[in-house]
Amino acid sequence: MAPVGEIGMPCSNHKTTPKEQQESERRLRTIVVGDNAVCADCRLPIQFRNAWASINLGAYLCIQCSGVHRSLGVHLSKVRAVAADDWNSDWVDNMERWGNTRATAFWEAKPPQQRPEATQGATSASRPMVDFIRAKYAERVFAAEGVEPGDWLLYAPLANGWARHFDEESKSFYFSNGTETTWEVPLHAQLPPSESPLWWSGNEGWLEKKSGGHDGQSKMKLMQKWDKRFFVLDKCGTVLKYYKSDEAFRKREEPAGMVELRGASVFVKEAKGDLVRFTLLAPDRQLKLRAPMAEYRMWASALRPLVGDVTDGPAAMSDDD
Ligand SMILES: [Zn+2]
Repeated sequence: MAPVGEIGMPCSNHKTTPKEQQESERRLRTIVVGDNAVCADCRLPIQFRNAWASINLGAYLCIQCSGVHRSLGVHLSKVRAVAADDWNSDWVDNMERWGNTRATAFWEAKPPQQRPEATQGATSASRPMVDFIRAKYAERVFAAEGVEPGDWLLYAPLANGWARHFDEESKSFYFSNGTETTWEVPLHAQLPPSESPLWWSGNEGWLEKKSGGHDGQSKMKLMQKWDKRFFVLDKCGTVLKYYKSDEAFRKREEPAGMVELRGASVFVKEAKGDLVRFTLLAPDRQLKLRAPMAEYRMWASALRPLVGDVTDGPAAMSDDD
C-alpha cells in the first residue's frame, strides 16, 4: 500500500542512465510551451532553462513556487529542475500525461476568488503566495472533489473519516475508515459537492489609526492623533482585529478593537508621497487609517475579497484636515 497521505502519480527513483537523460531532455525541450510555460501557481512566465516541475503532480512551476512545493514535503510534491536535473523517463511521462492545463482543472476546479501577485525575479515566494500554495495542495481548498484521477495510484481522503487506498497486489482501489474496509465506495464516504470557496490569505501588520477628532467636535479635534496598532485579519476570517502591539497579539491578549468586514468598504482618502490614508467604513463604525504604500497594497489585496475593490472616497467622506 502507498504511504498514507501521498498523492499524485507514482515516480521511479532509479538513477537516470545517460541515454535516458538524453531522451528525457529532448522530450522536455518540446513541452515547456503554452500553458506549461506559465507557472501553475503564480502564473509568472517560465522557460525550459528556468522551469521547475512537480513530477508527481505533473505541473510546471517557477523557481519561487518550486521552493514552496519543496516545503510541502515529498508526499505532496516532488520537485525537479527541468533543465538542470537528470530526468527518469517515467517522470517525463507524468509531465506529458498531466501538464498545467489538466493540473489547473483539477487543483483549481473551484477557482480561487483571489490570487496573490508574484514578482518576477524575487528570491522567494511572498507569504500570501506560500499560504495560497498550501491552501491549494495541502488543504485542497480549490480542488475537484470525489475520487481522484485514475492515474493517481495513491491515497485519497474522502468524507467521514474514509479514504481511498490502492492495493498493490490486486491493483484495485479499496476504501477504509480504519475499522471497516470495502471495495466499493460507501455512500457516506462520498464528498458533498461544495460551493466555490471564499478564500484569502489573511494579513497582519502595523497600521496607524486615527483617534479622537469626531466630526464637528472642534475641541476634540485638537486631541486627534495617529496611534500605531497591530492589525490582524485571519485567513478566511471576516473580522479585522487590532491590538496595542504585536506582542499583545502574540500573547493572545484581547484585541483593542474589532471590525466586522462583511458589508464594509474601503476608500482611499489621500495618497501623498509614500503615505496612503484610507477609511474602512463598516456598518457600525469607521476606522481612519494610514500606511506606507507597500503596506497599504498588501492590506488592499487581503481585504478585497471581503470589501470589494478599493475606491476613491466620495467627496462627502473627506474631513477637513
Ligand atoms: Zn510561480
